Amino acid sequence: MTEKNVILIVDDVVVNVQVLVNLLKDNYELKIATDGSRALELAQLEPIPDLILLDIAMPGLDGYDVLAELKDIKVTQNIPVIFVTANTSIEDEERGLNLGAVDYITKPISPAIVKARVDTHLKIKLQHDALVYNASHDQLTGLYNRHVLVEEGQRTFARAKRQEEDLCAIILDIDHFKRVNDEYGHLVGDKVLIHVANVLKNNMRTEDFIARFGGEEFVLILENCDAKAAIDKAELLRKAIQNTQTEGINVTASFGICELKEGHETFESILKDADTALYKAKQSGRNKVVLFRGV
Ligand SMILES: [Mg+2]
Repeated sequence: MTEKNVILIVDDVVVNVQVLVNLLKDNYELKIATDGSRALELAQLEPIPDLILLDIAMPGLDGYDVLAELKDIKVTQNIPVIFVTANTSIEDEERGLNLGAVDYITKPISPAIVKARVDTHLKIKLQHDALVYNASHDQLTGLYNRHVLVEEGQRTFARAKRQEEDLCAIILDIDHFKRVNDEYGHLVGDKVLIHVANVLKNNMRTEDFIARFGGEEFVLILENCDAKAAIDKAELLRKAIQNTQTEGINVTASFGICELKEGHETFESILKDADTALYKAKQSGRNKVVLFRGV
């Protein structure tokens, strides 16, 4: 069973709320706010709404204020907002749409029209979410893809530099992966990639970032983590990969680590040094962890 989509209903008049609740309660999970501040709270609390029905005339923060704030908050800025309002003037509608509302419904509402518009905007929203997901994730393993890695790397790098915090990057590569593909075929090779990705996911802190870099290479970004802690982490992952199997196949992986130092001017330069360390790990026998210590 798929989970119900979540709709946040915002209106200061209880009767109006009740009408919408009766209309939508069977098909959606509903959250209700009777003022603007509560609406902003509920919009940011899990489950994050998939759509918001927003009244305009309310004491305190009105619907325009709420929408403007929603657009400023990262987790809420892409939630479609439909104004449901007694303001019937063209100017009001124009203002609402210009602020970024996806639709504008006037009271008294027609139940069939509300339902139809809610369905349409939810459909568009879910398609949008799927596009965003597919553009940012590796299809096979579900990890972030290289594109997100570059963005996240730059962002993390800038913050660590500014705040003088520790930062490490680990790049790991499955040893002799080509042999797996050659010997067992690509489908089994894919299963090995998924398995290694899961081992990484299961052994990471939630704040750690993992991406599939390409082929059989993965990159980890560890914030607030010094070289020693990164080595420990990589050793843990190395053993976890070595000690588990999928499809009856054991693989190992080699790890290169680089810690942010004075000389690093970009995230790419850290990654490049981590890659040099990985190369050394491969050259010196594989299934090991090497820390970059300058060239
Ligand atoms: Mg009102």
